[in-house]
Amino acid sequence: MSPNRFYPLSVYFRRRFGCRVRKIALDAGSSCPNRDGLISAGGCTFCNEKGSGTGLAGTQPLRRQFLTARERMLTREKDVRFMGYIQSFSNTYGPADRLRGMMRELAGLPDLAGIAVGTRPDCLDEEKLAILRDAPFEEVWLDLGLQSAHDKTLRRINRGHDAACFAEWAKKAGDSGVKVCAHVITGLPGETLADFEQTLAVVNSLPVSGIKIHNLYICRGTVLERQWRDGELEPLSQADSLTWLVRGLTLLRPDIVVHRLNSDPDASELAAPGWALDKTKYLNATKQCLLESDVWQGKALGMPLSEWFNLDGRENG
Ligand code: SF4
Repeated sequence: MSPNRFYPLSVYFRRRFGCRVRKIALDAGSSCPNRDGLISAGGCTFCNEKGSGTGLAGTQPLRRQFLTARERMLTREKDVRFMGYIQSFSNTYGPADRLRGMMRELAGLPDLAGIAVGTRPDCLDEEKLAILRDAPFEEVWLDLGLQSAHDKTLRRINRGHDAACFAEWAKKAGDSGVKVCAHVITGLPGETLADFEQTLAVVNSLPVSGIKIHNLYICRGTVLERQWRDGELEPLSQADSLTWLVRGLTLLRPDIVVHRLNSDPDASELAAPGWALDKTKYLNATKQCLLESDVWQGKALGMPLSEWFNLDGRENG
């Protein structure tokens, strides 16, 4: 197995908790102001109606979702803990008591190392941040969508907030001890590699602890699909996507944990590009490209290859 040239989440978990930590996706039945009409009814142009949901909300409370998944995963491996990831839509949207209730419901669950909460920066306020900061878990991550640091792009994808809003809440959250995981996308409509590099410079400048780098794909039933069919945009080729990703990693602070390097589309929802379905091939190609080009996370910032990227060689990824 080739050595890591970036800082993967698996290694971070091993350093932090001394064991493997697996994520369990939880669905709190949340909504989104960019879908329910408060900001817009259409949503971000790349977002489908499911909003990355598991569909379990409404059929099972969060505790049951966690316990069922934990039981299943413990039959496959031992010496493992879990991170509950409240993923779908914008989970801090709505009254603060709703978020408080989620934290209460998940508190004290067995083998729970921490939680991650996905949301938009404009769905935060001081009270909600305090709830997350004071939640009774060893670690709280806030998965915060930026996508691009360019307001022109954010308008084009109907994001409904600007980059300054992300910067404000990433700073407040990071400074308060909540770990921020920034979500960004390569190949957004109208963007160049230089635009993506500038987005990463903004991420580097903030108290961000983690990043998810998604490659733009066209999901069926989205505005993006219509624009693609009308010839208004084209997703990156796999080769170009790799170029962006590898270049982006070289520009990323080496202390930022890489939670994801790719999107994870379902075959039934993917319209294009077809290569986005083969995630293993894409990840292997990324690692190979880092190795052959002799580059690593942070190299373009003048940082040496960090020894902590490989603290646990059993678990690259
Ligand atoms: S903020 Fe998230 S859930 Fe809301 S429309 Fe955009 S991608 Fe979808």
